[in-house]
Amino acid sequence: MRGTAVSPGIGRGTAYVLATAGGAPAPRREISLAEVGGELARFEAALGTAERDLAALRASVGDRIGAPEGEIFAAQALVVRDPMLKHQISALIRDHRINVEAAVAEVVESFTRSFDEIPDTYLRERASDIRDVGRRVLDALLGVHEHLEVPEGAVVVADELLPSMTARLEFGHIRALVSERGGRFSHTSILARSQGMPAVTGVSGASRMVKTGDRLLVDGIAGAVFVNPSQAVEREYERLETEIRAHKDRLRDNLDLPAVTLDGTTIGLLANSNKLADTEAALLYKADGIGLYRTEFAYAIRSDFPTEHEQFELLERAAARLHPRRVVFRLLDLGADKQLPYFPLPMARNPSLAERGIRLLLKHTELLRRQLRALLRVSALHPISILLPMVSGVEDVRRTRNIVREVQGELRAEGLPFDPQVLIGAMVEIPSAVLVARRLADEVDFFSLGTNDLVQYVLAADREDESVAPYYQPLHPAVLRLISSLADVAKETRRPLTICGDIAGDPFYTELLLGLGLRALSVAPGEILGIKDQIRQIDLGEARAFAQAVLELGSVAEIEAVVAKRVRTT
Ligand code: PEP
Ligand code: MG
Repeated sequence: MRGTAVSPGIGRGTAYVLATAGGAPAPRREISLAEVGGELARFEAALGTAERDLAALRASVGDRIGAPEGEIFAAQALVVRDPMLKHQISALIRDHRINVEAAVAEVVESFTRSFDEIPDTYLRERASDIRDVGRRVLDALLGVHEHLEVPEGAVVVADELLPSMTARLEFGHIRALVSERGGRFSHTSILARSQGMPAVTGVSGASRMVKTGDRLLVDGIAGAVFVNPSQAVEREYERLETEIRAHKDRLRDNLDLPAVTLDGTTIGLLANSNKLADTEAALLYKADGIGLYRTEFAYAIRSDFPTEHEQFELLERAAARLHPRRVVFRLLDLGADKQLPYFPLPMARNPSLAERGIRLLLKHTELLRRQLRALLRVSALHPISILLPMVSGVEDVRRTRNIVREVQGELRAEGLPFDPQVLIGAMVEIPSAVLVARRLADEVDFFSLGTNDLVQYVLAADREDESVAPYYQPLHPAVLRLISSLADVAKETRRPLTICGDIAGDPFYTELLLGLGLRALSVAPGEILGIKDQIRQIDLGEARAFAQAVLELGSVAEIEAVVAKRVRTT
């Protein structure tokens, strides 16, 4: 089967097909008196399954992310055995004679609806836990596999892997990911690359055609998936794997060498981090700091918004780990591509052009304030910066800065320390931000270039939509002009500029990016050594001349051809 290679490497193992994201609807039917006992027994069994799943989730999230995060699922396990819920569901089955799925859905719905209207946040948090548990019990009844119970050595196959689902996968157990939907720049792909997990997406029909138990060989370089491959194919890939391993060993020799070009210019080489564990990887690969900490993944693995204290603890741990290196924390960047199960986004005619990132935070200022309080408190202890996602112009920055000032006033009044000079920067990922960059420079301390979104907005090609993938072209002349123009403005206005979009981590683009004027790259930890290898073979004078020549070219095909010729191999 063919697809798009989104995370390089070769993975082989036993297929494990995941059920549809979002869950199947609860079927409803009337039952006879004779069926009541059977339905009650199914209910009891489903409760047992939910409890076991939650215990596993608690242990694995606790190990990988932290004990406090693991405790979320311990609290949910209490909900599973809540006597009142259980009584109401059993009563519906017995007295109203409906099947257990319908009874669970009905009780959870009516129970949580009444909670939702109570202004007390503690009770509201309980409501979202109950919904989460209700979904889990329904999944157990419908035979939907809990995605965390993925067996050792599995290749996970799904129609779509949502980031919140991927964040829960036990990466140590998995050999590769295969999905039908999702593009190279989707968050799941980014997560896969950060874990060095081979992944192929856009494999149409995969979740129907592949059966759990099939042997799969995933080529995350060419974008191919072999189902029950022949011995000849297996042997060929064994040879390739040996070569890849040797290449990685050669890169490892770079670990202690500086990221300096042939002419002696030091290039900032930072890490992108999606979760706490990535900060360890960043240290392992000797990153200069974290250039982009995506805070949304920490939210995605919970059943409700974390409290200020919980956020402070998590952010502080990351910043302390990197100290004295800087961590750039991006404010919560929610949108159609990064959703939380407990925060439904308003219906939008066109989700990528709707309320996202800073727009959403400026509407839900209570979320913004809570995160800012946590971040500012961390700023008293460690060097951190605050990055605003999806900035379209100066108003977004001014409005946010006003709230930062108010929050600082509150902290001061409470006697809580913070760094009053904390650096505030803008993601440049909407074309308007590049075009008004000179004005934005008056409002921010630094820029971060997010090409993942910039490309989609310049070329009107949704980054998550496989059907327009051919139009999603990072090497389009329009994209390169914008990058070049932003680098010029950053230099003239002396605002530090880092590129944190995914092309920064692909050696294919390194010389061109340096030639266009970029001097700091933030990439997935696993990509650091490969990029450093490129940097050390580049002469900036030559890179500049090359980039100027590329800017003269009018078509993507021409640009791709000349760039491909220049890429150095070790
Ligand atoms: C980007 O848009 O390039 C970026 C780095 O942010 P994200 O991929 O999280 O949208
Ligand atoms: Mg973005």
